[in-house]
Amino acid sequence: MYKNMSTLKMLFLLIIGFNFQLFGQNNFDKFFTSATLRFDYNHVGDFKSEYFYPVQLKKEPFWGGTKINLIDEFNYGEYRIMIYDSASNQLIYSKGFSSLFYEWKTTNEAKAETKSFYETQIIPFPKQTIILEIQTRNKKDSFELSLKKYINPTSRFIVNENPQKFNSIKVHYSGNSAEKVDIVFIPDGYTKDELKKLRDDMNRFSGYLFNSSPYKENKDKFNIWAVEAISEESGTDLPDEKIWKNTIANSSFSTFDSERYLMTYDIKTVRDIAANVPYDQIYIIVNSKKYGGGAIYNYYNCCSADNELSEFVFIHEFGHGFAGLADEYYDSQVSFTDFFSQDIEPWSPNLTTLKNFDSKWKNMMDKNTAIPTPADNKNYNIIGVYEGGGYVSKGVYRPYINCSMHTAIVDGFCPVCKSAIQKMIDFYTK
Ligand SMILES: [Zn+2]
Repeated sequence: MYKNMSTLKMLFLLIIGFNFQLFGQNNFDKFFTSATLRFDYNHVGDFKSEYFYPVQLKKEPFWGGTKINLIDEFNYGEYRIMIYDSASNQLIYSKGFSSLFYEWKTTNEAKAETKSFYETQIIPFPKQTIILEIQTRNKKDSFELSLKKYINPTSRFIVNENPQKFNSIKVHYSGNSAEKVDIVFIPDGYTKDELKKLRDDMNRFSGYLFNSSPYKENKDKFNIWAVEAISEESGTDLPDEKIWKNTIANSSFSTFDSERYLMTYDIKTVRDIAANVPYDQIYIIVNSKKYGGGAIYNYYNCCSADNELSEFVFIHEFGHGFAGLADEYYDSQVSFTDFFSQDIEPWSPNLTTLKNFDSKWKNMMDKNTAIPTPADNKNYNIIGVYEGGGYVSKGVYRPYINCSMHTAIVDGFCPVCKSAIQKMIDFYTK
Protein backbone atom coordinates (compact mmCIF):
# COMPACT_ATOMS: atom_id res chain seq x y z
CA MET A 1 0.00 0.00 0.00
CA TYR A 2 2.70 2.38 1.10
CA LYS A 3 4.73 1.41 -1.93
CA ASN A 4 1.79 2.05 -4.25
CA MET A 5 1.10 5.38 -2.61
CA SER A 6 4.67 6.54 -3.09
CA THR A 7 4.72 5.40 -6.73
CA LEU A 8 1.47 7.25 -7.32
CA LYS A 9 2.83 10.28 -5.56
CA MET A 10 5.99 10.18 -7.62
CA LEU A 11 3.99 9.88 -10.82
CA PHE A 12 1.85 12.80 -9.72
CA LEU A 13 4.93 14.92 -8.98
CA LEU A 14 6.43 13.93 -12.32
CA ILE A 15 3.29 15.01 -14.16
CA ILE A 16 3.11 18.29 -12.20
CA GLY A 17 6.79 18.97 -12.92
CA PHE A 18 6.37 18.19 -16.58
CA ASN A 19 3.33 20.46 -16.91
CA PHE A 20 5.11 23.25 -15.12
CA GLN A 21 8.03 23.06 -17.54
CA LEU A 22 5.66 23.02 -20.47
CA PHE A 23 3.86 26.04 -19.02
CA GLY A 24 7.13 27.99 -18.79
CA GLN A 25 8.26 27.17 -22.30
CA ASN A 26 4.75 27.85 -23.68
CA ASN A 27 4.77 31.24 -22.01
CA PHE A 28 8.15 32.03 -23.50
CA ASP A 29 7.01 31.09 -27.00
CA LYS A 30 3.74 32.96 -26.53
CA PHE A 31 5.37 36.23 -25.49
CA PHE A 32 8.99 36.20 -26.67
CA THR A 33 11.38 35.32 -29.48
CA SER A 34 14.96 34.05 -29.06
CA ALA A 35 16.48 37.52 -29.58
CA THR A 36 17.29 40.14 -26.93
CA LEU A 37 15.76 43.56 -26.30
CA ARG A 38 18.30 45.87 -24.68
CA PHE A 39 17.16 48.94 -22.78
CA ASP A 40 19.79 51.65 -22.22
CA TYR A 41 19.26 54.51 -19.78
CA ASN A 42 21.10 56.96 -17.58
CA HIS A 43 20.85 56.33 -13.86
CA VAL A 44 21.23 59.74 -12.27
CA GLY A 45 21.14 61.24 -8.79
CA ASP A 46 22.85 61.59 -5.44
CA PHE A 47 22.72 59.93 -2.01
CA LYS A 48 19.02 60.65 -1.51
CA SER A 49 17.38 60.81 -4.96
CA GLU A 50 17.73 58.79 -8.13
CA TYR A 51 16.17 58.89 -11.60
CA PHE A 52 16.19 56.72 -14.72
CA TYR A 53 16.33 58.52 -18.08
CA PRO A 54 15.83 56.30 -21.16
CA VAL A 55 18.46 56.53 -23.92
CA GLN A 56 17.74 53.82 -26.47
CA LEU A 57 16.19 50.43 -27.25
CA LYS A 58 18.19 47.93 -29.23
CA LYS A 59 17.57 44.48 -30.70
CA GLU A 60 20.42 41.98 -30.23
CA PRO A 61 20.62 38.63 -32.04
CA PHE A 62 20.70 36.04 -29.21
CA TRP A 63 18.77 35.33 -26.02
CA GLY A 64 21.01 33.27 -23.70
CA GLY A 65 18.65 33.06 -20.73
CA THR A 66 16.31 30.39 -19.48
CA LYS A 67 13.01 29.92 -21.35
CA ILE A 68 11.40 28.13 -18.40
CA ASN A 69 11.95 30.27 -15.30
CA LEU A 70 10.88 33.69 -16.52
CA ILE A 71 9.86 35.12 -13.14
CA ASP A 72 12.61 35.88 -10.63
CA GLU A 73 12.16 33.84 -7.43
CA PHE A 74 15.11 35.22 -5.41
CA ASN A 75 14.14 38.81 -4.50
CA TYR A 76 17.84 39.83 -4.58
CA GLY A 77 19.18 43.17 -5.80
CA GLU A 78 18.49 46.84 -5.16
CA TYR A 79 16.31 47.07 -8.30
CA ARG A 80 14.17 44.85 -10.46
CA ILE A 81 12.96 44.94 -14.01
CA MET A 82 9.35 43.84 -14.48
CA ILE A 83 7.81 43.09 -17.88
CA TYR A 84 4.02 42.92 -18.30
CA ASP A 85 2.03 41.87 -21.33
CA SER A 86 0.26 45.13 -22.21
CA ALA A 87 -2.99 43.50 -23.37
CA SER A 88 -3.55 41.36 -20.26
CA ASN A 89 -1.35 43.10 -17.65
CA GLN A 90 0.15 39.68 -16.85
CA LEU A 91 3.68 39.67 -15.43
CA ILE A 92 5.67 37.72 -18.04
CA TYR A 93 9.29 38.34 -17.04
CA SER A 94 11.18 39.76 -14.06
CA LYS A 95 14.74 39.98 -12.83
CA GLY A 96 16.49 41.55 -9.84
CA PHE A 97 19.75 43.44 -10.29
CA SER A 98 22.07 45.92 -8.66
CA SER A 99 24.05 48.76 -10.16
CA LEU A 100 27.25 50.74 -9.94
CA PHE A 101 25.13 53.83 -9.27
CA TYR A 102 23.74 52.21 -6.11
CA GLU A 103 27.24 51.58 -4.78
CA TRP A 104 28.32 55.09 -5.66
CA LYS A 105 25.37 56.60 -3.84
CA THR A 106 26.66 55.08 -0.57
CA THR A 107 30.03 56.88 -0.96
CA ASN A 108 30.85 60.26 0.59
CA GLU A 109 31.11 61.81 -2.87
CA ALA A 110 27.36 61.27 -3.37
CA LYS A 111 26.65 63.48 -0.36
CA ALA A 112 28.37 66.40 -2.11
CA GLU A 113 27.47 66.03 -5.78
CA THR A 114 25.25 64.36 -8.40
CA LYS A 115 26.45 61.87 -10.98
CA SER A 116 25.13 60.02 -14.04
CA PHE A 117 25.83 56.36 -14.86
CA TYR A 118 25.06 54.74 -18.22
CA GLU A 119 23.26 51.45 -17.54
CA THR A 120 21.59 48.74 -19.60
CA GLN A 121 19.17 45.90 -19.01
CA ILE A 122 18.35 42.99 -21.28
CA ILE A 123 15.14 40.99 -21.63
CA PRO A 124 13.97 38.44 -24.20
CA PHE A 125 12.62 40.21 -27.30
CA PRO A 126 8.81 40.53 -26.99
CA LYS A 127 6.25 39.57 -29.64
CA GLN A 128 3.56 42.03 -28.56
CA THR A 129 3.50 45.41 -26.81
CA ILE A 130 4.90 45.21 -23.29
CA ILE A 131 5.04 47.44 -20.24
CA LEU A 132 8.58 47.71 -18.89
CA GLU A 133 9.00 48.84 -15.30
CA ILE A 134 12.13 49.53 -13.29
CA GLN A 135 11.42 49.32 -9.57
CA THR A 136 13.69 50.42 -6.73
CA ARG A 137 13.96 48.80 -3.30
CA ASN A 138 13.19 51.39 -0.63
CA LYS A 139 14.39 51.67 2.96
CA LYS A 140 11.39 49.64 4.17
CA ASP A 141 12.48 46.77 1.89
CA SER A 142 9.59 47.03 -0.56
CA PHE A 143 9.77 48.10 -4.21
CA GLU A 144 8.69 51.43 -5.66
CA LEU A 145 8.04 52.27 -9.29
CA SER A 146 10.90 54.32 -10.78
CA LEU A 147 10.21 54.10 -14.51
CA LYS A 148 7.38 52.82 -16.68
CA LYS A 149 7.51 52.50 -20.44
CA TYR A 150 5.31 50.95 -23.14
CA ILE A 151 7.35 49.20 -25.82
CA ASN A 152 5.91 48.11 -29.16
CA PRO A 153 8.35 45.54 -30.61
CA THR A 154 7.52 46.59 -34.19
CA SER A 155 8.56 50.20 -33.51
CA ARG A 156 11.05 51.70 -35.96
CA PHE A 157 12.72 53.39 -32.98
CA ILE A 158 14.23 50.10 -31.81
CA VAL A 159 17.79 50.06 -33.17
CA ASN A 160 18.14 46.85 -35.17
CA GLU A 161 21.72 46.64 -36.38
CA ASN A 162 24.12 43.72 -36.13
CA PRO A 163 26.72 43.99 -33.35
CA GLN A 164 30.32 44.76 -34.31
CA LYS A 165 31.66 41.35 -35.23
CA PHE A 166 34.45 39.76 -33.19
CA ASN A 167 35.73 36.23 -33.33
CA SER A 168 34.14 34.25 -30.52
CA ILE A 169 35.16 30.88 -29.14
CA LYS A 170 33.53 28.24 -26.99
CA VAL A 171 35.94 27.89 -24.10
CA HIS A 172 33.69 25.33 -22.41
CA TYR A 173 30.51 24.07 -24.04
CA SER A 174 27.93 21.68 -22.65
CA GLY A 175 24.74 22.38 -24.66
CA ASN A 176 21.74 24.57 -25.54
CA SER A 177 22.08 28.06 -24.01
CA ALA A 178 18.45 28.09 -22.86
CA GLU A 179 19.28 25.23 -20.47
CA LYS A 180 22.75 26.32 -19.34
CA VAL A 181 24.38 29.15 -17.43
CA ASP A 182 26.21 31.03 -20.19
CA ILE A 183 29.16 33.19 -19.17
CA VAL A 184 30.77 35.48 -21.72
CA PHE A 185 34.42 36.36 -21.07
CA ILE A 186 35.39 39.78 -22.38
CA PRO A 187 39.14 40.34 -22.44
CA ASP A 188 40.29 43.91 -21.77
CA GLY A 189 43.78 45.30 -22.42
CA TYR A 190 44.99 42.48 -24.70
CA THR A 191 46.63 43.73 -27.94
CA LYS A 192 46.67 41.83 -31.23
CA ASP A 193 50.19 40.63 -30.39
CA GLU A 194 48.83 39.10 -27.19
CA LEU A 195 46.18 36.89 -28.81
CA LYS A 196 47.84 33.70 -27.62
CA LYS A 197 47.96 35.02 -24.05
CA LEU A 198 44.32 36.05 -24.36
CA ARG A 199 43.30 32.51 -25.36
CA ASP A 200 45.47 30.91 -22.68
CA ASP A 201 44.02 33.24 -20.04
CA MET A 202 40.40 32.53 -21.05
CA ASN A 203 41.10 28.80 -20.72
CA ARG A 204 42.87 29.29 -17.41
CA PHE A 205 39.91 31.23 -15.94
CA SER A 206 37.43 28.65 -17.19
CA GLY A 207 39.53 26.11 -15.30
CA TYR A 208 39.39 28.30 -12.18
CA LEU A 209 35.58 28.22 -12.18
CA PHE A 210 35.51 24.42 -12.20
CA ASN A 211 38.19 24.23 -9.52
CA SER A 212 35.71 25.41 -6.84
CA SER A 213 32.59 23.84 -5.34
CA PRO A 214 29.75 23.88 -6.22
CA TYR A 215 30.81 24.81 -9.78
CA LYS A 216 32.99 21.71 -10.23
CA GLU A 217 29.99 19.45 -9.54
CA ASN A 218 27.91 21.41 -12.09
CA LYS A 219 30.41 21.62 -14.94
CA ASP A 220 27.87 20.22 -17.41
CA LYS A 221 25.47 23.08 -16.62
CA PHE A 222 27.76 25.85 -17.89
CA ASN A 223 28.81 27.26 -21.23
CA ILE A 224 31.74 29.65 -21.31
CA TRP A 225 32.28 31.87 -24.34
CA ALA A 226 35.13 34.25 -25.07
CA VAL A 227 34.74 37.15 -27.46
CA GLU A 228 38.17 37.97 -28.82
CA ALA A 229 37.89 41.75 -28.60
CA ILE A 230 41.33 43.25 -29.11
CA SER A 231 42.55 46.44 -27.42
CA GLU A 232 44.77 49.19 -28.83
CA GLU A 233 47.04 49.10 -25.80
CA SER A 234 48.07 46.50 -23.24
CA GLY A 235 46.99 46.71 -19.58
CA THR A 236 44.43 48.98 -17.97
CA ASP A 237 44.03 52.41 -16.35
CA LEU A 238 45.84 53.02 -13.06
CA PRO A 239 44.66 56.53 -12.10
CA ASP A 240 46.70 56.55 -8.86
CA GLU A 241 49.87 56.22 -10.95
CA LYS A 242 48.53 58.49 -13.71
CA ILE A 243 48.75 55.58 -16.16
CA TRP A 244 46.03 55.54 -18.82
CA LYS A 245 45.54 52.85 -21.47
CA ASN A 246 43.25 52.80 -24.47
CA THR A 247 41.46 49.46 -23.98
CA ILE A 248 38.31 48.09 -25.55
CA ALA A 249 36.17 47.73 -22.40
CA ASN A 250 37.57 50.85 -20.70
CA SER A 251 38.30 49.14 -17.38
CA SER A 252 40.07 51.05 -14.62
CA PHE A 253 41.43 50.51 -11.13
CA SER A 254 40.53 52.92 -8.30
CA THR A 255 36.78 52.95 -8.95
CA PHE A 256 35.25 55.25 -6.29
CA ASP A 257 38.84 55.98 -5.21
CA SER A 258 39.28 52.44 -3.87
CA GLU A 259 42.59 51.31 -5.38
CA ARG A 260 41.79 47.62 -5.89
CA TYR A 261 38.25 48.23 -7.20
CA LEU A 262 38.66 47.34 -10.88
CA MET A 263 35.53 48.14 -12.93
CA THR A 264 34.32 49.92 -16.07
CA TYR A 265 31.70 52.64 -16.49
CA ASP A 266 31.42 51.74 -20.18
CA ILE A 267 28.70 49.10 -20.01
CA LYS A 268 27.46 50.22 -23.44
CA THR A 269 30.61 48.95 -25.16
CA VAL A 270 30.71 45.87 -22.94
CA ARG A 271 27.15 44.91 -23.96
CA ASP A 272 27.94 45.57 -27.65
CA ILE A 273 30.84 43.11 -27.42
CA ALA A 274 28.87 40.56 -25.37
CA ALA A 275 26.05 40.59 -27.97
CA ASN A 276 28.25 38.39 -30.21
CA VAL A 277 27.17 35.33 -28.19
CA PRO A 278 24.22 34.18 -26.04
CA TYR A 279 24.93 34.92 -22.36
CA ASP A 280 23.54 35.18 -18.84
CA GLN A 281 26.61 36.65 -17.12
CA ILE A 282 29.42 38.94 -18.30
CA TYR A 283 32.96 38.49 -16.97
CA ILE A 284 35.61 41.06 -17.97
CA ILE A 285 39.14 39.66 -17.63
CA VAL A 286 41.70 42.47 -17.47
CA ASN A 287 45.27 41.99 -18.64
CA SER A 288 47.00 43.22 -15.50
CA LYS A 289 49.15 41.84 -12.68
CA LYS A 290 47.67 44.21 -10.12
CA TYR A 291 45.37 42.81 -7.41
CA GLY A 292 41.76 43.75 -7.97
CA GLY A 293 38.28 43.15 -9.29
CA GLY A 294 34.62 43.84 -8.65
CA ALA A 295 31.13 42.62 -9.51
CA ILE A 296 27.53 43.75 -9.39
CA TYR A 297 24.62 41.35 -9.05
CA ASN A 298 23.15 40.45 -12.46
CA TYR A 299 25.18 43.18 -14.10
CA TYR A 300 28.81 42.25 -14.71
CA ASN A 301 31.93 40.77 -13.11
CA CYS A 302 35.51 41.95 -13.48
CA CYS A 303 38.96 40.81 -12.31
CA SER A 304 42.64 41.12 -13.21
CA ALA A 305 44.33 38.18 -14.94
CA ASP A 306 47.81 37.84 -13.53
CA ASN A 307 47.84 38.51 -9.82
CA GLU A 308 48.82 35.64 -7.52
CA LEU A 309 45.32 35.93 -6.01
CA SER A 310 43.47 36.12 -9.36
CA GLU A 311 41.84 32.70 -8.97
CA PHE A 312 40.38 33.67 -5.61
CA VAL A 313 39.25 37.11 -6.84
CA PHE A 314 37.63 35.53 -9.91
CA ILE A 315 35.58 33.09 -7.81
CA HIS A 316 34.78 35.61 -5.07
CA GLU A 317 33.50 38.28 -7.48
CA PHE A 318 31.37 35.79 -9.37
CA GLY A 319 29.69 35.04 -6.03
CA HIS A 320 28.47 38.66 -6.04
CA GLY A 321 27.63 38.91 -9.73
CA PHE A 322 25.93 35.54 -10.20
CA ALA A 323 24.49 34.47 -6.84
CA GLY A 324 23.92 37.80 -5.06
CA LEU A 325 26.35 36.88 -2.27
CA ALA A 326 27.57 39.70 -0.02
CA ASP A 327 31.04 40.25 1.38
CA GLU A 328 31.33 38.42 4.69
CA TYR A 329 34.36 40.50 5.76
CA TYR A 330 34.19 43.63 7.88
CA ASP A 331 37.74 44.54 8.79
CA SER A 332 38.77 46.15 5.54
CA GLN A 333 38.91 49.63 4.07
CA VAL A 334 36.08 50.17 1.59
CA SER A 335 34.55 53.40 0.32
CA PHE A 336 30.98 52.49 1.32
CA THR A 337 29.28 53.77 4.45
CA ASP A 338 26.17 52.11 5.92
CA PHE A 339 25.94 49.74 2.98
CA PHE A 340 23.55 47.40 4.81
CA SER A 341 20.75 48.96 6.83
CA GLN A 342 20.50 47.23 10.20
CA ASP A 343 16.78 47.98 10.43
CA ILE A 344 15.88 45.41 7.78
CA GLU A 345 17.06 41.99 6.68
CA PRO A 346 19.68 42.37 3.90
CA TRP A 347 18.62 40.73 0.63
CA SER A 348 21.88 38.80 0.20
CA PRO A 349 21.49 35.12 1.13
CA ASN A 350 24.70 34.98 3.24
CA LEU A 351 24.17 37.89 5.67
CA THR A 352 21.57 38.50 8.35
CA THR A 353 20.70 41.30 10.76
CA LEU A 354 18.49 38.77 12.62
CA LYS A 355 15.45 40.89 11.67
CA ASN A 356 14.01 37.99 9.68
CA PHE A 357 16.44 35.13 10.19
CA ASP A 358 13.81 32.51 9.32
CA SER A 359 14.19 33.64 5.71
CA LYS A 360 17.93 32.86 5.78
CA TRP A 361 20.00 29.79 6.76
CA LYS A 362 18.29 28.99 10.07
CA ASN A 363 17.03 25.68 8.66
CA MET A 364 20.64 24.68 7.87
CA MET A 365 21.75 25.14 11.50
CA ASP A 366 21.88 22.64 14.32
CA LYS A 367 19.18 23.83 16.72
CA ASN A 368 21.63 23.58 19.63
CA THR A 369 23.98 26.16 18.10
CA ALA A 370 23.85 29.48 19.94
CA ILE A 371 22.56 32.62 18.17
CA PRO A 372 24.75 34.66 17.91
CA THR A 373 27.54 32.07 17.75
CA PRO A 374 30.95 32.76 19.31
CA ALA A 375 33.71 32.74 16.67
CA ASP A 376 36.00 30.39 18.58
CA ASN A 377 37.98 27.42 17.33
CA LYS A 378 35.49 24.75 18.35
CA ASN A 379 32.91 26.31 16.00
CA TYR A 380 35.29 26.46 13.05
CA ASN A 381 33.25 24.24 10.72
CA ILE A 382 29.85 24.89 12.26
CA ILE A 383 27.10 26.84 10.50
CA GLY A 384 26.17 29.60 12.91
CA VAL A 385 25.47 33.30 13.21
CA TYR A 386 28.82 35.05 13.61
CA GLU A 387 28.88 38.77 14.25
CA GLY A 388 30.69 40.87 11.63
CA GLY A 389 30.06 40.99 7.89
CA GLY A 390 29.01 43.37 5.12
CA TYR A 391 31.81 45.86 6.07
CA VAL A 392 30.69 46.30 9.67
CA SER A 393 31.73 44.52 12.85
CA LYS A 394 28.45 44.97 14.75
CA GLY A 395 24.83 44.12 13.98
CA VAL A 396 25.43 42.18 10.75
CA TYR A 397 26.09 38.44 10.94
CA ARG A 398 27.65 35.84 8.61
CA PRO A 399 27.03 32.08 8.51
CA TYR A 400 30.54 30.68 8.88
CA ILE A 401 33.80 31.75 10.50
CA ASN A 402 35.59 31.52 7.16
CA CYS A 403 34.43 31.47 3.54
CA SER A 404 35.58 32.58 0.08
CA MET A 405 33.26 35.60 0.56
CA HIS A 406 35.35 36.48 3.64
CA THR A 407 38.98 35.46 3.13
CA ALA A 408 41.31 34.86 0.17
CA ILE A 409 40.72 31.11 -0.06
CA VAL A 410 40.13 29.16 -3.27
CA ASP A 411 37.41 26.48 -3.21
CA GLY A 412 36.29 27.63 0.21
CA PHE A 413 32.64 28.68 -0.02
CA CYS A 414 30.76 27.98 3.21
CA PRO A 415 27.72 25.64 3.05
CA VAL A 416 25.30 28.61 3.00
CA CYS A 417 27.04 30.24 0.04
CA LYS A 418 27.30 26.88 -1.76
CA SER A 419 23.59 26.32 -1.32
CA ALA A 420 22.77 29.82 -2.65
CA ILE A 421 24.99 29.25 -5.71
CA GLN A 422 23.40 25.85 -6.34
CA LYS A 423 19.89 27.34 -6.23
CA MET A 424 20.94 29.93 -8.81
CA ILE A 425 22.45 27.28 -11.10
CA ASP A 426 19.21 25.28 -10.82
CA PHE A 427 17.12 28.35 -11.67
CA TYR A 428 18.98 28.81 -14.97
CA THR A 429 19.15 25.15 -15.89
CA LYS A 430 16.00 23.38 -14.67
ZN1 LIG B 1 29.82 32.12 2.83
